[in-house]
Amino acid sequence: MPPTSPTPPYRGRLAPSPTGYLHAGHARTFAIAARRAAHGTLIFRMEDLDPDRSRAEYAADALEDLRWLGLRWQEGPDIGGPCAPYAQSQRHDIYLAAMRQLLARGFVYPCRCSRKDLAAALSAPHEGPQAINDPDDEPLYPGTCRPSHPVPPDADLAGHNWRFRVPDGEAIEFLDLNLGPQRFIANVDFGDFIVWRRDGVPSYQLSCVADDEAMHITEVVRGADLLKSTARQILLQRALRYQSPAWFHCSLVADSQGRRLAKRHDALSIRTLRERGLTPTQILSGNIPPKA
Ligand code: GLU
Repeated sequence: MPPTSPTPPYRGRLAPSPTGYLHAGHARTFAIAARRAAHGTLIFRMEDLDPDRSRAEYAADALEDLRWLGLRWQEGPDIGGPCAPYAQSQRHDIYLAAMRQLLARGFVYPCRCSRKDLAAALSAPHEGPQAINDPDDEPLYPGTCRPSHPVPPDADLAGHNWRFRVPDGEAIEFLDLNLGPQRFIANVDFGDFIVWRRDGVPSYQLSCVADDEAMHITEVVRGADLLKSTARQILLQRALRYQSPAWFHCSLVADSQGRRLAKRHDALSIRTLRERGLTPTQILSGNIPPKA
């Protein structure tokens, strides 16, 4: 019989961005992530890359809220572990090494387009139920700065934003363990995306992929609003010769008007629900009683 490679031990992660209070939707997704990691290791990774929007208070509150909900992790910024540091703001060298590899392999090019696109690139592009053309997602890049000649592999990164060139028309397919087969077309469903900002800050897409690799994540559990980001990340993993983890996207929690929850929905933040006296079980059930 041919030897089979052993299945690596399960490693999952909770990866909140401390740009606001976590809400009932995060609670549900993170509880599912914790359940799936019950026989493995759960890592808490603080995605505090965006220097303008991340706040130390929100980071502390995220740890506290999730602990209050009863979630437990084995590695994280509060307890350390073999892949420390667990806050993205302290992992710049890892992202720079990945970025240099993308450049050496000819996958990225400098872009001189607007600041607005850049703001979008730092945070995870959450999509609404209508998905395509949602304002929260990075707009399809028209290709203005796509070069017709190769970019020198030792080019200076400073002073430009950098985009990953997607393979036009290629279908990116993956099996989602919750939602089934998924398929997105490069340069139709999403375009050339930003991986590095001119001020030296990596994008969400690049930092997430570099960290999932460095932290040996075997399964990514996150909201279904990041399905298209998964397609982008598969392209990055291929370019960097990383193995993709398994994917499990959770369906989204909506508010009473059917809108996706966002950090701006203060009424459904875990904080506010706690103050109203709701229990972790009530919050995790997703069945939030209206305010009396
Ligand atoms: N930090 C991202 C967010 O809070 C999620 C990243 C992920 O799970 O890949 O939106």
